[in-house]
Amino acid sequence: MQTDISNNMNDHLAFQQVLELLPAMMLYTEMHYRFKLTGSRYFKREPEILADIPYRINPGRQIPVLLLVKDAHKYPVYLKSAEVTIKNSEGELYRKCHKFGHAIEGYWWYQTLLIPRPSITGGVEITVEIKYVLNGKTRHCTNHNLKLLSPEPFRVYLADDPLPGSSQVIWGDLHYHSNYTEDMVEFGAPLEPTLLAGRALGLDFIGVTDHSYDLDDQPSSWTRTDPKLEKWHQSRQEVELLNKKFDFSPFLIPAEEVTIHNARGRNIHALVYDHANFLPGQGDGAEIPFNFTCDYNSKTLFEAIRSDTLCIAAHPLIPVPFFEKILIRRGGWEQQDMINPNLAGLQILNGALDDGFYRGIEFWVRQLLQNRKLYIYAGNDAHGNFNSFRQIKTPMLSLHEKKEQLLGECRTGVFTGNHRNLQTILADLKSGHCIITNGPFVNLTLIADDKKTKIGDTFSTETSPVSLALQIEAKSTAEFGGLERVRLFCGIPGEEEQISYEKRFEWSVFSFETFFAGTPSVDCYYRAEVRTLNGCLALTNPIWLKTGISETG
Ligand SMILES: [Zn+2]
Ligand SMILES: [Zn+2]
Repeated sequence: MQTDISNNMNDHLAFQQVLELLPAMMLYTEMHYRFKLTGSRYFKREPEILADIPYRINPGRQIPVLLLVKDAHKYPVYLKSAEVTIKNSEGELYRKCHKFGHAIEGYWWYQTLLIPRPSITGGVEITVEIKYVLNGKTRHCTNHNLKLLSPEPFRVYLADDPLPGSSQVIWGDLHYHSNYTEDMVEFGAPLEPTLLAGRALGLDFIGVTDHSYDLDDQPSSWTRTDPKLEKWHQSRQEVELLNKKFDFSPFLIPAEEVTIHNARGRNIHALVYDHANFLPGQGDGAEIPFNFTCDYNSKTLFEAIRSDTLCIAAHPLIPVPFFEKILIRRGGWEQQDMINPNLAGLQILNGALDDGFYRGIEFWVRQLLQNRKLYIYAGNDAHGNFNSFRQIKTPMLSLHEKKEQLLGECRTGVFTGNHRNLQTILADLKSGHCIITNGPFVNLTLIADDKKTKIGDTFSTETSPVSLALQIEAKSTAEFGGLERVRLFCGIPGEEEQISYEKRFEWSVFSFETFFAGTPSVDCYYRAEVRTLNGCLALTNPIWLKTGISETG
């Protein structure tokens, strides 16, 4: 491998830059830099060629197979064909060779093949055999031409049922990187294939949260800032065009992952949705070595955005590796960063039920018990990654794949009215009318004085104690496993959170509903959680109760 590196060195100016940044890059791998597709670029005189397929397919949907070729302007290829094979344990279900027969010479090239879905349910393995001609020689690769990864088949679940709860909520992924996030170590998938993948897997919307330090780059540069913001403008235009083209089914929310400073001057990320202008943030972009300054911090950001803008703390409690703390001054969201009432809440679910998630719940509950009204949200921080997550373990030496942080794997389910447009959904998200899940559905409704109060809202009454009922609904499907337990929590500010109700299931139950009666006499909140036998989890946002004659609204 060392010889490979030296041999190619002269041919790739970028390589020198990479070497210079290597110490910093090695430290990114744990958190933010999803080296989805690259890594072999420095070893191979070929464009990146790859396929990608969503990890699940909703009933009635075709299977979108994305074919992508990047950097063919440097390494032109002639694409001959792509043969798609679908198998399960019983044998081959589909095989077809799609002929192309044309040259690819541009920076980006992509096409999504829509493959008819075999009439079966459950897991299948799909492989894509790509034939191409490079420098007069015919070559082929399976699924991708990355040198350091074995061509694992795509594992796809052909679902029999839609996502549980689909008749009650619309499903979204609030943290996603497209190909506008692009630098020397990573790039995401283009937006149109993302919409096709999102639609097939059951998503209604996707928040496009490309990095602030990528959106202000000159097109095709990783480091030079563009005062005209061509890339940012282009991304906004493309989102608008595609939303029209797809007739908002599904749709993209134009957004940005802005690097800001926390109260200690460390770099943290904020997700800002549908903001009218670009918000700069360079602190951890490593574009200017050892410059960690940021335009905004957790206080001034809220002076720069409108009060009705949806702003969420990105992966706030994700553990920060030691070297990232030192070398790119990464930090975490802390209590003093969350005091602005215009911070809607915390994206505690970031692609997996991991440490960052459980620390996130703990932190969030502590805030609720201190009377802070913060909501929870889910996203995946996927960079493309429809099926498996490729990451450079040690830059340019090894890549590994894992089945986490895939587009749509963790979802925010929004309770919204019939008028499903961007503005109403953003308002519902900002009001916490949503749940988070990586599988099941859960809902909670507070019923008192003949009035129903939904998740995220506050029920105010002058009566104390108040007799109320909490309606809890839980749903799952075979795909995510039968229900294991349903829990209702009650939190009184200043006290510990209590489990008010718990139900455990001993046999396969996929749908459950109950009414819990209570007579609280003090201000409190209720929230519900559902776990399935497959280890999937769903959490509601709280419903608050305000009692006493002095309280209003
Ligand atoms: Zn981030
Ligand atoms: Zn991100």
